[in-house]
Amino acid sequence: MAGTIPAQAKLSAVVRTIAGSMVAEVCSIYLRRANGEMELFATEGLDPGAVHVTRMRPGEGLIGEIMRQGRPLNLSDAPSHPAFSYRPETGEDPFHAFLGVPLLRGGRTIGVLVVQNRTSRVYSDDDIEDLQIIAMVLAEMVAAGDLLSREELKDVEIAPRRSERLKGARLADGLAFGVAVLHEAPVAAGRLLSDDVPAEEHRLSTAIDGLQAQIDAMLEGHEGIVGPSYDVLETYRMLAHSRSWNHSLLDAVHSGLTAEAAVERVRSEHRAGIGQARDPYLRERLHDLEDLNDRLLRHLNGDGEKARVLPENAILVARNLGPAELLEYDRTRLKGLLLEEGSSASHAAIVARAMDIPCVGRLAGLRDRVNEGDPVIVDAETGEAYLRPRPDVVAAVTARIGVRAERRAEFARLRGTPAYTLDGAKITLLMNAGLAVDLDILPETGAEGIGLFRTEFQFMVSEDMPRRTAQTELYAKVVEAADGRPVIFRTLDLGGDKVLPYLQAEREDNPALGWRAVRMGLDRPALLRTQLRALIAAVAGRPLSVMFPLVASVEEFRAARALVDREIAWAMRRGRPAPSRLEVGAMIEAPSLIWHLDALLPMTDFVSVGTNDLMQYLFAADRGNPRVSERYDPLSPPALRALRAIREACAESGTPVSVCGEMAGRPLEAFALIGLGFDRLSMPPTGVGPVKKMVLSCDRGAAARGLAGLLNSSSGSVRGEIEALARKLAVAV
Ligand code: PEP
Ligand code: MG
Repeated sequence: MAGTIPAQAKLSAVVRTIAGSMVAEVCSIYLRRANGEMELFATEGLDPGAVHVTRMRPGEGLIGEIMRQGRPLNLSDAPSHPAFSYRPETGEDPFHAFLGVPLLRGGRTIGVLVVQNRTSRVYSDDDIEDLQIIAMVLAEMVAAGDLLSREELKDVEIAPRRSERLKGARLADGLAFGVAVLHEAPVAAGRLLSDDVPAEEHRLSTAIDGLQAQIDAMLEGHEGIVGPSYDVLETYRMLAHSRSWNHSLLDAVHSGLTAEAAVERVRSEHRAGIGQARDPYLRERLHDLEDLNDRLLRHLNGDGEKARVLPENAILVARNLGPAELLEYDRTRLKGLLLEEGSSASHAAIVARAMDIPCVGRLAGLRDRVNEGDPVIVDAETGEAYLRPRPDVVAAVTARIGVRAERRAEFARLRGTPAYTLDGAKITLLMNAGLAVDLDILPETGAEGIGLFRTEFQFMVSEDMPRRTAQTELYAKVVEAADGRPVIFRTLDLGGDKVLPYLQAEREDNPALGWRAVRMGLDRPALLRTQLRALIAAVAGRPLSVMFPLVASVEEFRAARALVDREIAWAMRRGRPAPSRLEVGAMIEAPSLIWHLDALLPMTDFVSVGTNDLMQYLFAADRGNPRVSERYDPLSPPALRALRAIREACAESGTPVSVCGEMAGRPLEAFALIGLGFDRLSMPPTGVGPVKKMVLSCDRGAAARGLAGLLNSSSGSVRGEIEALARKLAVAV
């Protein structure tokens, strides 16, 4: 026990001091054990024999009540409260007035701080405020190990310690093991209290002004537009200007907290208060408040916050990441990303995929369960996160990481090998891209060019609409980086699951079937023409290939193509160079076109099959909804027959055709595509190596013969049969 005495003495001194400053006869600290019990850790005024003896079960007594509510409890006569639970060992019968506040850390209640008086005194709002601030400092000191040693805190739920496995959604493929870095780092204990209230008040007011101005400006860009994002911004504005929020923050600063600590304090209260709400509306408001708090902290840090120095093997942990935030981190050290929210179309997911960083999202309660520096695993193969994993899990994952690295090395060796099938058919393997960071990997992949450049990504990762000059700059960079390899630029594919806060359409019941892609481009020709102008300027007399997304009728293609001709004429009138060669193509994503290819193909220079959308529309299954998106198999007779019809029509009219949906990057699916006769595949960068390995081991004639019979199968899926065929032919899938 010798080692514990000084710490216990320290804690006793703390409660004595608090009792003195609050003019209370009793001051007690309860901390939460891992089993949920609240244990008396120190007291001034109650029987010292009760320390480490009195334990309240979860929900028991007034302490349990505070714990449950995460809010202060102020009573003039504690024993008459229905939740009061009498503990004879504490000797507390003569005390009536009771004030207890939660010890909050990151929205979790780690303990309770209580003061009591004999008289039926009523504690004032100032008393409550004071005790909350003391509780905040105390919580940080306990967590920082300033008051109790690690040994004493063993089994105390100060910070989450147990191994946990959280199930989420795979947002960017891969596997990583590293240390957690919190994107929204908690304010350090040393930065909680200020001795210059006016200076802090000034900092806070300046930051709030900056935040309000920022939100007002964001809203101004939205004039005349209605939609969910506009609503969200309106809510932000309301909250940012809300007097109660401002007052709570100012009050906290007036009570001696730094501006950052004030933000955290108000945030903690909101989290604890609203966090338990079932009402989805309230939870949504909490979400908005969280975002506002983060924004306010960034304003306090100064807008141009420098990139954080990351440890080796950093795994970034965040609620969500805004436009471009991920790009601010050092890519060489950032190994993975865990998000509490996020969807596959969210900025963070898009950028993570472009940076080839594994990412798992939709991990409920993530931030409250991770401490800075915790070992964590991002398993984006299964869509899971392991927090503080056990050694056997680490060993298993490390082995899997090793296998992946070996496979990568093997694919890297194939980089320079052209992709010919065993029977001598050349298969052109291209890469999908969308951001400047993608281009860094182009040479590494061995892809022969970019078969799909998703131009909307630039729009999706920007805070506001990229200007024409910014568009030109990016496209020129892409052409430069491609270094003579072909690039197919796809015009803006916005709408559907790709929403922009600054360019929002009306709320739609069925966005995937709504005003999106080329439909939007044709209705808003200024947007599309600006982009075409930027593309023509960027290629500056070199070849240009451009294609339009989600064309559903020949008229749409005709109209879109006419805009390209118009922009080229416009450039030439100004003496600017026209592209040395122009190819205009359509994406085949709407099933309608399959039965009008005879009309469409003669108008196009090439087509590319967007199987992600084509499958969603063929099977009437939302690609973004995990419940239905994997319900139907592209390796099924209807899907394969649709693909065969497209391939045959293209062969008949001599139109070059590629497949650029995700399936082109999966070896087994790519095997089927080659069997159907496709010879141009564009895929995510990580698919190029595995698909090339498959191609090199594949006899295309045999694949075609084997596949032909399967297309007449009466099964819903022929995946198993195709797998068996690949095995029989010894194809590396
Ligand atoms: C597709 O739909 O298959 C496609 C490649 O386009 P995106 O995934 O960008 O919609
Ligand atoms: Mg598509």
